[in-house]
Amino acid sequence: MAAAALCVGVGSFSDPKEIQGLAHFVEHMVFMGSKKFPQENDFDAFIKKHGGSDNGSTDCETTTFYFECFEKHLFKALDKFAQFFIAPLMKRESMTREREAVESEFQMALPSDEFRKDQLLASFATVDSPINSFSWGNLITLKANVDEDKLYDALHEFRQRHYSAHRMTVAVQGKISLDVLQDNVISCFSSVPNNELPSFDFKKFRHCFETDKFNKFYFVKPMKDICNLEVTWALPSLLDQYRCKPHHYISWLLGHEGKGSLLSYLRKKVLALSVYAGNGESGCEHNSMFTLFTITVVLTKQGCEKAHQVIEAIFSYISLLKREGPQKWIFKEIQRIESTSFQFSEEESAVDNVEEISECMQFYPPKDYLTGSDLYFEYNPEAIMMILNQMSPNKMNIMLFSHNLPSDKTFDKKEKWFGTEYTDKEISSEMIKKLEDIKPYPEFHLPEKNKFLTENFSLLPKAENHPKYPQKIIQNSVLELWYRRDQKFGLPLAYYYFYLITPLAMDNAQNSCLLDMYVDFLVIELAEECYPATLAELSYSFEPFEKGIIMKVTGYDEKLPVLIDIIGNYIRNLPNTITEEMFVAVKDKEMKKYYNQFIKPSKLAKDLRLSILQNKYFSLLEKHDAVVNITTDMVTDFARKLFKKMYIQCLVQGNVSENVVTDVVMNFIKTVECGPLDSNTELAVEVAQIPLGEHCCRVLSFNKNDANSIITNYYQLGLLTIKNCVTMEFIMHMIEEPLFDILRTKEQLGYNVYCTVRDTCGILGYSITVNAQVNKYSTEHVDQRIEHFIKHVHKLLKTLSNKKMFEIKKDLIKIKNCVDIDLEDEVERNWAEIVTSEYIFDRVQKEINEIQNLKVSEIRKFWDNINQYGNHVNYRKISMQIVGQTNVENSDENTFEEGIVQVDAKNASQKYSLRYLGTLEDCRKEKKNESYFIKNIPSFKKKLHLYPTRSKAKLLNKI
Ligand SMILES: [Zn+2]
Repeated sequence: MAAAALCVGVGSFSDPKEIQGLAHFVEHMVFMGSKKFPQENDFDAFIKKHGGSDNGSTDCETTTFYFECFEKHLFKALDKFAQFFIAPLMKRESMTREREAVESEFQMALPSDEFRKDQLLASFATVDSPINSFSWGNLITLKANVDEDKLYDALHEFRQRHYSAHRMTVAVQGKISLDVLQDNVISCFSSVPNNELPSFDFKKFRHCFETDKFNKFYFVKPMKDICNLEVTWALPSLLDQYRCKPHHYISWLLGHEGKGSLLSYLRKKVLALSVYAGNGESGCEHNSMFTLFTITVVLTKQGCEKAHQVIEAIFSYISLLKREGPQKWIFKEIQRIESTSFQFSEEESAVDNVEEISECMQFYPPKDYLTGSDLYFEYNPEAIMMILNQMSPNKMNIMLFSHNLPSDKTFDKKEKWFGTEYTDKEISSEMIKKLEDIKPYPEFHLPEKNKFLTENFSLLPKAENHPKYPQKIIQNSVLELWYRRDQKFGLPLAYYYFYLITPLAMDNAQNSCLLDMYVDFLVIELAEECYPATLAELSYSFEPFEKGIIMKVTGYDEKLPVLIDIIGNYIRNLPNTITEEMFVAVKDKEMKKYYNQFIKPSKLAKDLRLSILQNKYFSLLEKHDAVVNITTDMVTDFARKLFKKMYIQCLVQGNVSENVVTDVVMNFIKTVECGPLDSNTELAVEVAQIPLGEHCCRVLSFNKNDANSIITNYYQLGLLTIKNCVTMEFIMHMIEEPLFDILRTKEQLGYNVYCTVRDTCGILGYSITVNAQVNKYSTEHVDQRIEHFIKHVHKLLKTLSNKKMFEIKKDLIKIKNCVDIDLEDEVERNWAEIVTSEYIFDRVQKEINEIQNLKVSEIRKFWDNINQYGNHVNYRKISMQIVGQTNVENSDENTFEEGIVQVDAKNASQKYSLRYLGTLEDCRKEKKNESYFIKNIPSFKKKLHLYPTRSKAKLLNKI
């Protein structure tokens, strides 16, 4: 893939106060056709047609536009792209539509606690400062508060003032000679206008957070059920300190999880589960006016009640950093880690690469374009001390995100744009005095030297007769071990993947929760000893999956055996380490996690779809229900039993020899004391066949402050074969662009519109998803529009020319050939074959062959069978509809029947059940038959017949 990005040195800080969100709106409008290519979706269509994608993003002081496509079409695309900056049309009629897109984007952002926090914090700055502004833009700032002519003029004025060549940076990537690239860039971009005008200077606002509002203690009501403490300081701008990155040095230590760290202390007291320190490098945290430095603590229930203790611990640790002073050896360690990481970094996708580089070009001198954001050039103890001194109690802002308030408080204030409810209190002078005087606790000390740092980065010699795909080197009753040495990417890295398969995981919802909790305990137990490994760029993760846990240990190969050995020992000892106090905290965390997921419409839609389709699938609601009854003993017992009966699939790839791999894996199995499964163990995930015709699962979203509806129309085909899969991919590729153009750009149904091929445990299907706002369109309307589109696809296929067919095939084959940018991609691809027990490692090649053989008549017939406009012999559809709620204030509370649970302030610990919508009356209105609506998922499921599974036989044979 080739890619290009253009970054303009202007963003929402330059919004006029009377039209907030203008910079973002300009970003959208620029892409709506140019003088040379006036069609509104000309560029988008071109890019999508050639296997690519494009997008833009508006930050505070920069706006970036980027795209990727096949190399062959780069220059044509570049020409179209450059015209947006030479002579964009930004027509009046496009305004109405793109304003809707901006509004949709804002509606989607509305339930996000992160965005709500950013906006709230911005409101604490002085009123005249550019940060105190609503950068998203919506129908209020771009429609209600401004007349059409004024907006139109402002739009063009803004572009003329700021979109000037001297403030633009471009990065282009493609496997084409530099001279040719350069010539093309020059010829495409040389007529971008240049007005030589300076950018606005925001430095005079550098004290914008020195306000009474900022230096307060805030209680903020979150959307999710969380309890987070955030302590924030507004430091001087550190943009020009990129060579020493003093704030990174401090966040490295404050966020440390090893022995003697802040988190280690808080975990032992069961006050917190995690700590994050520093800033996210986004423009609103890191800009020419200030740098925000935030410590975020994810509190336990206890911690939430004792937030002052946590704040004291933070200041105690800061006082340790001050007492010990900056340490050169720690800086050197960070410097070394970052520089090896840079040296051996795996290749990023072209589009990510150019996006980042075009932005870096705005901030660093040319010699540091590529390295400025990653490397540590010089040690500057004075700068570190300066920041530590700034991090004082009288300059801090505290926010506590929780539904629990002190008894004398109510959420009596409301942020203007997101409507975030909050209240505040002064930070007393006694508290400040106390925090200023606090000494380092005896538990605190600086980290020890990191034992996981790699010394030896050498590569294994190349072998002859090197196999193309992973080979199975061990197969016994507990283990299948696949291995492939890497000779392609040539980096000192290795990937150890384990699928720890246990029948326990599929037993019932309660066991599924136990598995989640087991993983939590393991991660917490490992943290202190293994956190330094993550600093040394080794990584380990555990993910509960369908049949057990997927464990991945990756990074520089040299120290991975040590790390895996440590993990094995912790696994063996885990049953002895589970304490009652930590159990309470973990259980609370899981309960909140399930809840925080199912209140999101998109998560709920996916969860319900899978819970209809898969047997032995436990939905978030079922798990939320089941977790309540779990006790400490049950977790301990589960941890004891887990490895007694297990089957492990393992894949190792990278710079590692067969002998090392065998030793490491066998040693792990011995350490965790793994025993074989019973011979009659049933381990297949089965999928239900949707009955012929159309069905709808329409339920009410749980969050009454979230207007987003999700409509996913899922169409099921049957057992997946390589042939029907590529046929489906062919059709999806063909309709992707028209789908976006019709449903999103023209009809403005919602900001998110996409189609995708679905492989559900070996059963093929496809889906079309639209995110719409409930106050704009009903889910029924969206479903109808999707069906209308499908009818259109029917026509597209009928008139599909050989030439077009040939082009699509060529694009698809190119995409297939683009796989594996780095070793991880290759490993993931092979891993998917192992996890599904399909083992078709040459799938890509097989798919390419099938694509070449595709015939137009076959594709038409295939499509005919699966939708209602053809012969529909195999038309099996479920429309998953999560209906958003209109904001309580604007709606009549009695719209919904009594007794339904609406999420409000209170929390994860209530019991929730689905609210099925769709009455017989609706059936008549929508002209559907009586069985159209699914009124109860479990009873609907009971009647369905299960497909035979592909992996069942294979797995059983091995045991
Ligand atoms: Zn946008």
